[in-house]
Amino acid sequence: MEPRLNGIAGKEMMHMKIAFLGLGNMGGGMAANLVKGGHEVHAFDLSEAALAKAAAAGCVRHDSARAAVQGVAAVISMLPNGAIVKSAYTADVIGQAPTAALLLDCSTIDVATAREVAALAADAGYAMVDAPVSGGIAAANAGTLTFMVGGTAQAFALAEPILRAMGKTLVHAGASGAGQAAKICNNMLLGASMVATCETFTMAQKLGLDPQTFYDIASRASGQCWSMTSYCPLPGVGPQSPADNGYVGGFATALMLKDLTLAMAAASDVGAAVPMGQRAAELYAAFAEAGNGGMDFSAIIGTLK
Ligand code: NAD
Repeated sequence: MEPRLNGIAGKEMMHMKIAFLGLGNMGGGMAANLVKGGHEVHAFDLSEAALAKAAAAGCVRHDSARAAVQGVAAVISMLPNGAIVKSAYTADVIGQAPTAALLLDCSTIDVATAREVAALAADAGYAMVDAPVSGGIAAANAGTLTFMVGGTAQAFALAEPILRAMGKTLVHAGASGAGQAAKICNNMLLGASMVATCETFTMAQKLGLDPQTFYDIASRASGQCWSMTSYCPLPGVGPQSPADNGYVGGFATALMLKDLTLAMAAASDVGAAVPMGQRAAELYAAFAEAGNGGMDFSAIIGTLK
């Protein structure tokens, strides 16, 4: 059967009434892309500045989440953490939005809360997906995010045309919570591989190797990884990266620490041994505590010299 949403199917589904909660660095660009995609976007954020920016991008602004979700075909959230997501959905979305509305939480939150909120939504008759993203503010603005989606196959099919307006790659990761699980596992690997790349380049230099020469060797040898070949932490080596811009922009250390902290909690919940992830979490915690939370996460190379 063709998936239907509020009785709308096929091409018409591309022009929907959608509520968007959380219009910050990421949500602002995502909501603007939904507007560009022809959707009617009803926005709510606690921040007046964020709301004003969303209105300038063509969203309809509301004074509360409850007001924003009235009569919509979908609700999208891009909020800071699991506690806020749970309170927003239980207080203002579940029981307020039409039960035919699809609920999509794109925030990065813990797996347990994602599953709990989706179960509460399902009990009240809603389909919900967790759809955290890979890609930063630039990808949110450009509409090129990758979405890792957790939920039923039917909910994924309903989510797909909506997410397409904000991203270029969509992956159905599995059942509810699987999107969040994929996101934190990927970012744990990224955190650990970045620390390994930083320490390796630092040691190579101390051993007298020219960084570019070592890059040319390792990027074609078995040590090759994304942290080196797409995001080299040394300025002037490899493609353009935050290292070439004083470690400004990119993916903030505070967000890497957030994701590693979520990964450590999940590892503990399921009894997974994660010694490398644990060490990366400790190193990023110390780096953030030293006042570097706003720096790109590859700046951690400075602590290894
Ligand atoms: P942000 O702080 O810029 O935006 C969050 C917004 O939520 C703010 O505007 C805030 O006012 C609003 N907000 C907070 N509580 C609210 C509530 N109860 N109701 C409505 N609005 C509320 O954060 P961000 O960088 O946009 O990140 C959002 C989410 O995306 C986080 O979960 C983050 O981990 C994830 N994420 C961020 C990046 C990135 O590069 N910034 C990348 C991937 C994923």
